[in-house]
Amino acid sequence: MARIALDIDSTLHHYWDIFDRVVRERFGIELPHERQTDWGITVLERDQLRECVAETHSEENILAAEPYPHAVETVRAWSAAGHWIHATSHRAEHTRDATARWLDAIGLPYDDLHCSYDKVSRCVELGIDVLVDDSPVNITRAREHGILTATIEHPWNAHLTGDGVVIARDWRELRERIAPLLAKLGA
Ligand SMILES: [Mg+2]
Repeated sequence: MARIALDIDSTLHHYWDIFDRVVRERFGIELPHERQTDWGITVLERDQLRECVAETHSEENILAAEPYPHAVETVRAWSAAGHWIHATSHRAEHTRDATARWLDAIGLPYDDLHCSYDKVSRCVELGIDVLVDDSPVNITRAREHGILTATIEHPWNAHLTGDGVVIARDWRELRERIAPLLAKLGA
């Protein structure tokens, strides 16, 4: 069976809407999703960015997130098939309780939850086979460690190519395209 790591923001739900709203409310700046072709966000100072990201991870915002269609069903199917699920998010450790409550509320099964800033090294320690994550930085690092990767397509990762990188338009496509990889790992 496979060991699967699952990012949360922009992977399980459309984080960008929350982020864009917070940035607009605080600083009056608009950050349309379709124009976010870089991973970095240069229109904000580092401290401003940190403030905004922290607010997107308030208890209220975490609990209000709407999962992408078919995300929960897909992970439920993986879990039912015996795959080991590691939920992992680049968010502060104190958000873990709210994150766990959100995962329970949406009915997403997981074996392990990690809220921290060392995602890929933790994946390596845990012997993860497949990382589902939208970050080009994490995808590239995971590939360097031989971890297969898959992501929902966003403007900031659509350019990625290469072996072991699946870019899918939605969770239905991601599930289909990852199935042969999981079958191989399960064999
Ligand atoms: Mg993400």
